[in-house]
Amino acid sequence: MNIQNVTVAGGGVLGSQIAYQAAFKAFNVTLYDINQQALTAAKNRITALRGGYKQDLNVTDSDFDNGLAHLNYTDDIDSTVSHADLVIEAIPENAAMKTTFYNQIGNSAPDTAIFASNSSTMLPSQFAEATGRPERFLNMHFANHIWVNNTAEIMGSPKTNSAVYQDVVTFAKNMGMVPIQLKKEQPGYVLNSMLTPLMVAGMSLWATDVADPHTIDKTWMIATGAPMGPFAILDMIGTRTAITVPLAQAGDPDGKIAAAIKAKLQQRLDDGKLGIESGEGFYHY
Ligand code: NAD
Repeated sequence: MNIQNVTVAGGGVLGSQIAYQAAFKAFNVTLYDINQQALTAAKNRITALRGGYKQDLNVTDSDFDNGLAHLNYTDDIDSTVSHADLVIEAIPENAAMKTTFYNQIGNSAPDTAIFASNSSTMLPSQFAEATGRPERFLNMHFANHIWVNNTAEIMGSPKTNSAVYQDVVTFAKNMGMVPIQLKKEQPGYVLNSMLTPLMVAGMSLWATDVADPHTIDKTWMIATGAPMGPFAILDMIGTRTAITVPLAQAGDPDGKIAAAIKAKLQQRLDDGKLGIESGEGFYHY
């Protein structure tokens, strides 16, 4: 299937980036959000991307403007999905909200349309039936700062049709992503299945006073050649999100280490050390 018309639902942090990146690669993109106020916020987020595209990819103003010309905005979901080849859903991480959304677009989109969820924590089998087209539904999970951190993790449910899956892989490549193909459902996909244990291990060494954050990062960086250690990554993710990471681990059966980590992160939150966004986390910015 030749995907040309793309609807992105939800113009928040990730939806605005997904919509612009697809438009930048010349797809016909419509960004849907719930009302004019939300659409104005989405437009502001997209305008603010210009600096990142310029600095990180040397994109000129006129090339950035060409991307904007491929982007439309609407608060009318039924009419926009009625001519969509692909709907990428980036609405809040709330199962009831997503189910209602899929019920609605399942009725108004053409039978040929593919639906993809950007959910970080929910599996496609959870919503497959709500879409009314389980064989044309899967997850397509992007990373924040999509124009540089350009992975798209593609994960079907057991009911996803393999040709549909391959169409989405091709689309991901055409929108400038590196498609990461999962062969089956996995909470956390590939990236977070590896990253979460690393973050928890690093925070445990800190919370049990084995080593300080800079020493832990330095060890990881020198010994593996990685450009960042877990605490520099935490600063990027931000303390507000970091405190929601599941902390359960085998070496901590009674949850004492998890509680110590939570308390230390809460203290940093109270002190306004939010990471890169506040100029201070484990490092200064
Ligand atoms: P966000 O809160 O920044 O944005 C959500 C947007 O959805 C808002 O613009 C809101 O107005 C809109 N919205 C609310 N209800 C809606 C509805 N019924 N229909 C359409 N739009 C609606 O959220 P986000 O951080 O962009 O996350 C969105 C999704 O992307 C979540 O599933 C999240 O797990 C996933 N995700 C987020 C990140 C991240 O770093 N923030 C990374 C990868 C995936």
